[in-house]
Amino acid sequence: MVIDILIIDALSAGSGRRVTSRDAIGCGPRSVAGVLEASGFSCKIRRAEDVLTGRSGIRGFRHLAISAMTMDAPSVRRIIRAWRRHHQGVVLLGGPIATGGKQTLISLKPTLMVVGEGERTLDELIRAGFFEDAADLHAIDGIGFMDHDNPVFTAPRRRLTSQELDSYRPSITRIMDYPAYQASRVYVEVLRGCSNFRRTTLELPDGRVCIDCGNCDSPSLADRLDCPAGIPPGCGFCSVPSTWGPPRERSEQAIVDEVTGLLDLGVHRIVLEAPDFLDYRRGHVPQTDPCSPAANLEAIESLLSRLASLPQIAEGNAHLSIENVKACLFTDEVAALIAKYVHGTSPNIGLETGSGSHMRSIGKGGSPEDVVRAVRAARHHGMSPFVYLIYGLPGENEQTAEESIRLMKLLSDAGAERIILYGFQPLPGSAFAAFPPASAKSHLGRRLRRAAEDINRQKKTHYVGRVIRGVAAEPSLTHKGYTMVYPLGEGPIMTVLGGYSPGTVMKVRVVKPLSAGLLLGEVLREDDRDWDVQ
Ligand code: SF4
Repeated sequence: MVIDILIIDALSAGSGRRVTSRDAIGCGPRSVAGVLEASGFSCKIRRAEDVLTGRSGIRGFRHLAISAMTMDAPSVRRIIRAWRRHHQGVVLLGGPIATGGKQTLISLKPTLMVVGEGERTLDELIRAGFFEDAADLHAIDGIGFMDHDNPVFTAPRRRLTSQELDSYRPSITRIMDYPAYQASRVYVEVLRGCSNFRRTTLELPDGRVCIDCGNCDSPSLADRLDCPAGIPPGCGFCSVPSTWGPPRERSEQAIVDEVTGLLDLGVHRIVLEAPDFLDYRRGHVPQTDPCSPAANLEAIESLLSRLASLPQIAEGNAHLSIENVKACLFTDEVAALIAKYVHGTSPNIGLETGSGSHMRSIGKGGSPEDVVRAVRAARHHGMSPFVYLIYGLPGENEQTAEESIRLMKLLSDAGAERIILYGFQPLPGSAFAAFPPASAKSHLGRRLRRAAEDINRQKKTHYVGRVIRGVAAEPSLTHKGYTMVYPLGEGPIMTVLGGYSPGTVMKVRVVKPLSAGLLLGEVLREDDRDWDVQ
């Protein structure tokens, strides 16, 4: 049987193999599948990596849709070439990679690029007969395509309201297309967009600079949407506010329905996806102030209590977690509430730089003191917070690096489980799009990396001897004859001797660290359901 659409999940595939977040399944491809299924199209999802290594084929489909990030361009190029060798069908390209505009269109040559939110655009393409080769593309907003040899981009797509977003339901059944979905972190979208509409005050390479109009701090939330100097909103390194706008939530019922369906299909690990989970129903539309008003405790409790009472989670056989939170919203009260329903979670808190003035100059809300307070609150309530920093950011200097190293140590003592340090990468659509990427060889980058590694190595040894409940995922790529085991709750990634089927739940005793990101474990007991909830 020929299936209508093959959806390729190329997110994080890079040049062919995912090296980070191997246990993560993002929500974008399932959202695309949901729109297609609602219109009566059959579809299947494949990982880019599986297609490129020949583990999954691309024959037997009429059309191709690819979801990717900017860094995934090499994989996308190879997949499109392979597709065109055997198929006449169209190639749609969407996701964050589409912010690359004309350059991406010309370089990767999809039939059509979906720019910005895809649901409504895909819906209109289907209704206009795009897959039957009958659509007048000029009449559809939010797309880019080649008209003969000319790249054409139609008007930007208006962003969906919360109600409109809620009318689209991601496919639940297509989760089973992912190998090892039972062991993976499956992301369920709670809200889209970010409330940080402050902007960088650093001069951009093309001369744009803040003229101090006051909009970024205006009491009018609508005024914050506009910058007369043309500077994209948000932290300078991030493209979320310019691409997705202010936060829009899905309804509590839609989230609960999706999580229920996924758990019933055997998913063990659910992550509530949001650029900042604490923006959930914070009120005021558009919500463009990152730190005020405070988080909506009532709405968060209503959602989390329903999710925590789903049988698989209540019995401890599946785990719920939240990730991204802004430090300025993460108060002791918030920490207590989350800890009540989401046990031992690891909130991800962005610090980016330990210097308060550098933080303000890159457009970030809050302060380093907020991050220290948030980490203490998280640890006090039994959570294992991760703190994120970036080296090579515009504005970095000896002084900011010194302050970042001091803050890393302070945060480690305050209870940060891990310091995660990334090299700056310019993203299309962000204020810092035209700055050079971080150099791994830079003197400051090396100092920052060493400081973070020292802290993390020391923390990893704390796991030795501990018993962690995990889920078998896939054969290890680096240790022959071993199986990768992901923690059922929060914790480190482990590898154990022997072959285990994906989804096998087990107790693992940590033997020793194998690298900064991997621990060697031994299986204590194979079991399905009968442990006490830890
Ligand atoms: S809106 Fe633009 S010009 Fe106005 S304060 Fe913010 S960055 Fe400066």
